[in-house]
Amino acid sequence: MSPTAPSVSRRLLGRLRDVMAGGGTAQDRLDRVVKLIAADLVAEVCSCYVMRAGEVLELFATEGLRKDAVHRTRLRVGEGLVGDIAAHARPLAIADAQNHPSYVYRPETGEEIYHSLLGVPILRGGRVLGVLVVQNRSLRQYIEEEIETLETVAMVLAELVAGGSLIPREEQIAADGNALLPLRIDGVKLNGGIGIGSAVLHKSRVVIHRLVAEDAEVEMARLKEALARMHRALDELLESQDLVKGGEHRDVMETYRMFAEDTGWITRIGEAIRGGLTAEAAVQKVHDDTRHRMTQITDPYLRERLHDLEDLANRLLQYLAGRGESPADLPDDAILFARSLGPAELLDYDRRKLKALVLEEGSPTMHVAIIARALDIPVIGQARDVLERVEPLDPVVVDGDGGTVYIRPGEDVMGAFQANLKHRAQRIAVYATQRDLPPVTLDGTRIGLFVNAGLPADLAFLGDSGADGIGLYRTEIPFMARSDLPDVETQAQLYRQVLDAAEGKPVLFRTLDVGGDKVLPYWQGGVEENPAMGWRSIRITLDRPAVMRQQLRALLRAAAGRDLSVMFPMIAEVAEFEMARAVLDMEIGRERRGGGRIPKSIRVGTMIEVPALAYQMDALLPRVDFLSVGSNDLVQFLFASDRGNPRIAERYDTLAPSLLGFLRHLVQRADAAKVPISLCGEMGGQPLEAMALIGLGFRSLSMPVSAIGPVRGMIRSLALEPLAGFVQSLLLNPDHSLRDRLKAYAADHGVQIG
Ligand code: PEP
Ligand code: MG
Repeated sequence: MSPTAPSVSRRLLGRLRDVMAGGGTAQDRLDRVVKLIAADLVAEVCSCYVMRAGEVLELFATEGLRKDAVHRTRLRVGEGLVGDIAAHARPLAIADAQNHPSYVYRPETGEEIYHSLLGVPILRGGRVLGVLVVQNRSLRQYIEEEIETLETVAMVLAELVAGGSLIPREEQIAADGNALLPLRIDGVKLNGGIGIGSAVLHKSRVVIHRLVAEDAEVEMARLKEALARMHRALDELLESQDLVKGGEHRDVMETYRMFAEDTGWITRIGEAIRGGLTAEAAVQKVHDDTRHRMTQITDPYLRERLHDLEDLANRLLQYLAGRGESPADLPDDAILFARSLGPAELLDYDRRKLKALVLEEGSPTMHVAIIARALDIPVIGQARDVLERVEPLDPVVVDGDGGTVYIRPGEDVMGAFQANLKHRAQRIAVYATQRDLPPVTLDGTRIGLFVNAGLPADLAFLGDSGADGIGLYRTEIPFMARSDLPDVETQAQLYRQVLDAAEGKPVLFRTLDVGGDKVLPYWQGGVEENPAMGWRSIRITLDRPAVMRQQLRALLRAAAGRDLSVMFPMIAEVAEFEMARAVLDMEIGRERRGGGRIPKSIRVGTMIEVPALAYQMDALLPRVDFLSVGSNDLVQFLFASDRGNPRIAERYDTLAPSLLGFLRHLVQRADAAKVPISLCGEMGGQPLEAMALIGLGFRSLSMPVSAIGPVRGMIRSLALEPLAGFVQSLLLNPDHSLRDRLKAYAADHGVQIG
């Protein structure tokens, strides 16, 4: 860079600041700004085009072109050189513009006498708001420094354009035609329900108010200080106990740290400061440049690196704003937007204020979904580029059931969802009044209703639900919400609290089920091609018996003198169950020898999640006290269909004849052997699915606590006798799904399926 360039742009920026702070309308100020730029850059023309509704760039101010072209000349995005700059969000410098293939002549402007053209996009928050152009009569070769200067000026102008006085805020349109207009983004349902509220961005973007610096040295010192604080914080994170040596998490963090020290990045920020910007504006500018250069990249590794850079820029802005890392203040009705979120991060937020969660990526995020489900927060994943399109405090509706988020919705959409939410609240109130009504069918069969739990919050709701107990206690959830592996005493205390809260009702503890999509931040097994079928769950705990032994010891101690039920997840063969059971027997022996009090009774069972186990029922049934079908995993293995992959999430239906036939086989075998069988996957919590399961012979189901009311209502309106025969007859059906037939049955027989 030439030694004079920074001073040119700094002088210009100083003048711009005076104009922007001065009086007059926004149009007056824009007119003065283009004049100033033309003079400073020694150009005969300077024009500013602003993006209007329908992706049209309108000439808003010019020095040098005919004045009557202002507000008349309009170009579509992609049309002409100006449209090209907007379409690609990149600068163009052309000595002989009229002979360029993209050149489009507009006679009303009188521009035929100008030959060279330099134009840059006016960008804000990654959106194209307009185009700033200078032109010269001569065949001028614009140099890199001039491009830089014009880009810096465009950044300041972006504030004027975005301010809302030049064109109405609701008309400001991004290059994708969506900014600030009502917007609907489809993602995938990670948890159902409806949330209405105001947008909060996880690690919210810093809004920069001061763009032009008074003193470059002061800004450089601020940058240095913020960088040092950020580096210190990253070092601390790296050195903390939480990151297991050599783990994948550590690799990622180290790469991230390397990025943070990338001298190219820091040098470019320094150059922008010397060009006259404040430290914040310089970080933002370099970030905008990088983002636009990298958005075309499809390589997933490089895209991840882009996210790293974005995170770093955001972190640095937080430090410059003196905010550090504390979570943003939440409005009372927050809809949280994040790229992805760890379980601990979700739990950092005040649950009472959180109305919904929208994730841009959501992979691997099913553990977040499980926690959110436990908290009854609607969640949408795979909402593409949503963070670029939502502004803090925008009104938002999240339709978790439909997997759709509405940003800045119109009154009709908002009204419809508000009415729906009210209706749901009324229904919940009705369910609450029914909590003491037994879940008995019209013909007198009692169905056991249990809740799936894992968070302290679930326990609080257990009593209110009127459920029979906890049919699945996911022990990994408390593990995920901590920064390290809890020791035996900590675990025992936790399990004791669970048993206390259950007040004598049965609790089925499932041993640690991590891996796959449930990642412990401090305990990583390395990257796997196929984690759902990889080293997860019982496979990990059998290979790391110390972890399993500690957990079983904690369970035995917590249940001393009471009843204990334990089940193992992801068992694929009887031999595996026997191995797990042997570890339990060893721990029982150890406690006895040590003189400890052991539980009054110990029941041991297994989950059925891997289809192979269903073909060993003869060997399995005599060895277990109970069975519980984990339909979430069972479905993914039966259909060979990854439960975390949104592309195939809707491909197979849980109400398919194959799955129902499989379940029927399990129930018949368990009944014949008098081994209690239940189902604890998500399908048990859907009234229609629950109806089908009861028709197949299930007499016990475990579900999220919010599903107890609706399923109880369904059971109390159901006559079992005709249903069983109907379901049996359906199993011969060759269709993709039996859903419509079951729905029709419910409608014809007055079964309440919601
Ligand atoms: C299941 O797989 O159905 C189940 C209940 O376990 P999780 O969802 O925790 O894997
Ligand atoms: Mg499972």
